[in-house]
Amino acid sequence: MTWTISRNELSQQELLNLESLFSLANGYIGVRGNFEEGYGSEMNSIRGTYLNAFHDITEINYGEKLYAFPETQQKLVNNIDAQTIEIYFEGERFSLFEGEVISFERFLYLDKGYTERVITYKTKKGQQVKLRFRRLVSFHIRELFAIELLIEPVDFTGTVKIVSKVDGDVSNYVSRNDPRVSAGHAKLLSVGNVGYDENMMFVVDKTGTSNLETACATKHQLSIGSNKVVGEVDVKEKSIDVTYSFELTESITLTKYNVYTDTLRHENDLIKKGKAIHESLATIDFNTLIDEQKQYLDEYWQVADIKIGGEEKLQEGIRFNLYHLLQSAGRDKYSNIAAKGLSGEGYEGHFFWDTEIYMIPVFLLTKPDLAKSLIVYRYSILDGAKERAKEMGHKKGALFPWRTISGSECSAYFPAGTAQYHISADIAYSTIQYYLATKDEQFMIEYGAELLIETARLWIDTGHYYHDTFRIDDVTGPDEYTCLVNNNYYTNVMAKHNLKWAEIAWNLVKEKDKAVLEELKERINVLDTEPDQWKQAAEKMYLPFDTDLGINPQDDTFLQKDVWDLKNTPKDKFPLLLHFHPLTLYRYQVCKQADTVLGHFLLEDEQSYDTIKNSYDYYEKITTHDSSLSSAIFSIMAAKVGYKEKAYDYFMESARLDLDNTHGNTKDGLHMANMGGTWMSIIHGFGGVRIKETGLSLSPSLPAQWSHYEFTLFYLQRRISVKVNKEDVTLTLLEGQDLKVKLFNDELLLNKGKDKTVKISN
Ligand code: BGC
Repeated sequence: MTWTISRNELSQQELLNLESLFSLANGYIGVRGNFEEGYGSEMNSIRGTYLNAFHDITEINYGEKLYAFPETQQKLVNNIDAQTIEIYFEGERFSLFEGEVISFERFLYLDKGYTERVITYKTKKGQQVKLRFRRLVSFHIRELFAIELLIEPVDFTGTVKIVSKVDGDVSNYVSRNDPRVSAGHAKLLSVGNVGYDENMMFVVDKTGTSNLETACATKHQLSIGSNKVVGEVDVKEKSIDVTYSFELTESITLTKYNVYTDTLRHENDLIKKGKAIHESLATIDFNTLIDEQKQYLDEYWQVADIKIGGEEKLQEGIRFNLYHLLQSAGRDKYSNIAAKGLSGEGYEGHFFWDTEIYMIPVFLLTKPDLAKSLIVYRYSILDGAKERAKEMGHKKGALFPWRTISGSECSAYFPAGTAQYHISADIAYSTIQYYLATKDEQFMIEYGAELLIETARLWIDTGHYYHDTFRIDDVTGPDEYTCLVNNNYYTNVMAKHNLKWAEIAWNLVKEKDKAVLEELKERINVLDTEPDQWKQAAEKMYLPFDTDLGINPQDDTFLQKDVWDLKNTPKDKFPLLLHFHPLTLYRYQVCKQADTVLGHFLLEDEQSYDTIKNSYDYYEKITTHDSSLSSAIFSIMAAKVGYKEKAYDYFMESARLDLDNTHGNTKDGLHMANMGGTWMSIIHGFGGVRIKETGLSLSPSLPAQWSHYEFTLFYLQRRISVKVNKEDVTLTLLEGQDLKVKLFNDELLLNKGKDKTVKISN
């Protein structure tokens, strides 16, 4: 059962969450799990279809606008709605909220890649029908969202009418009281063209400002026995529908193939493109599409699956999270992974550092090509980041936007936005991790070196020497309850790594590809003195340390502040950001999420074990975990410092966060970073996996609640299986050449096909 999520709730609040949980996507199209036939008249639904990175631009209105505040913001657009299929039995509209529902269940198949709803329904006249809806967003044909409806008369006789729609008159969702959801600009698309041509219905919409177009081209097939039925098409001003009316005497199947295109990726003639894609689909039926989904997922699960012995609920949570991560990841240079994936409109479809620190690690060791594509997206917006650095007063370097879709800064609140300069070091970090996990030199030469150089230059320009140490002032670290500080430990340690690697990457290019070296010298004007500058700043980087407490303070003044009284803060005041002015929060030692503790995970060799443990103890007491990006990191670090129970408890927080809606806002979309965090808690936390210059190392332990667990890693073109039991760990090299790894404190040579078992010493 852990491969299937099943639900039968119909309450208003649950339905909104389930729209996110049952959303389907393929990195390009995302469709929320809305009901085709609609809802009760009083009900609220966030009906949504999104194309990754397809956005409009809206103005930001400031009361007081200062220099270099962004003037506009990009926003993911709720796209043309092709979900609707209304059904009438003898004139009576089918709805799960009006007629008599004898049975209802919906399923999301994590191993098969589609959703299904199965309903037995009694009409007012007392006649029964069975309905089954299946839908998928194809992993093979990126433009395709398909729905299949099966109606089976149990004891029904009479006429059935089906109306299937494609609606261009769509709006985004807004909420006035939650900063995590957009507060305005609902209407972003207008209808450009609606029509019908060669059995294909189409709607073309355009954005108001970004000058983009999108189209949905839809074809239907209705079979009654072996007869194909033709419907009556009605072209309206903003939508188009087709109506089928027939006597229901035997089972019928309606299939609806929706092809989405947009002018970011496709040529300008979207109708022509839609037609061409439909032609390529002519011989494909719904079952073939389902088989293809399975094939794609079989490949994914072969490396991505984690098996846990002992806890079904947890197993379900992990697979669910990994499934949605795969669905959400953009696969082209225009797109990335939005904070909510393609499952909702929270954070307006923006891409954050979440990708580099929480999602890329998963793909790095399961699907490195996808990790690469996500980094290449950052490369594609590098010029914009260089522009932004200039606008922010820097002479050189790249300052990546805190939140963006196509590259411009979209954060209107700079203390917790633009000031999070660490995003540039985070991008550098994932570039380095990708290189270490693949040794893909070509990537380093083509993209990596330039990313590292331009980000390193940002630190040289932002920082300065003081008392022979290199310092960085007025930035914000990951903890958004403490803003605009000097020498944020996380930022400094990440910048140090960034600077060190810029020099390494430069030397690599020098050694491997003279032509690129010259080209870089010319194009981005790398001076002979610069590599030394990077190296020296890295060596001299100031990392704050408090000798009394034996910890790294979060920044220069953090420890001087009063400690927030978390014990006496009523439960209903969390998350604090919804109840206190930012300044109130900034005046106290209180953390929204892992900050220094995260720095200790990502770069653990920078500090002694004792400092890391002391810091964990210190920061845990003052962290609220109001951000869903926090628990997983505390789980990993609790595992590292030997707090097994805590590691487990934090992990549990993360594993079912969306399935159980523990943050209360799953309706706005799934928490993608946390989903990556779940995988990280197991692999990096319990598994103790690290990827460093010295290679791959592991130091697994088994949580008391489990009988065993196992996972696979894809690393340097090898596939390695790791099985952890109470007493021992077994590593098997499934694919690739012999490889040396470090297990606990010893080196181990893995030979293809042979198990290596080592005792766990506690
Ligand atoms: C977190 C950020 C994160 C953003 C998007 C915020 O609540 O504090 O670290 O990038 O959510 O997930």
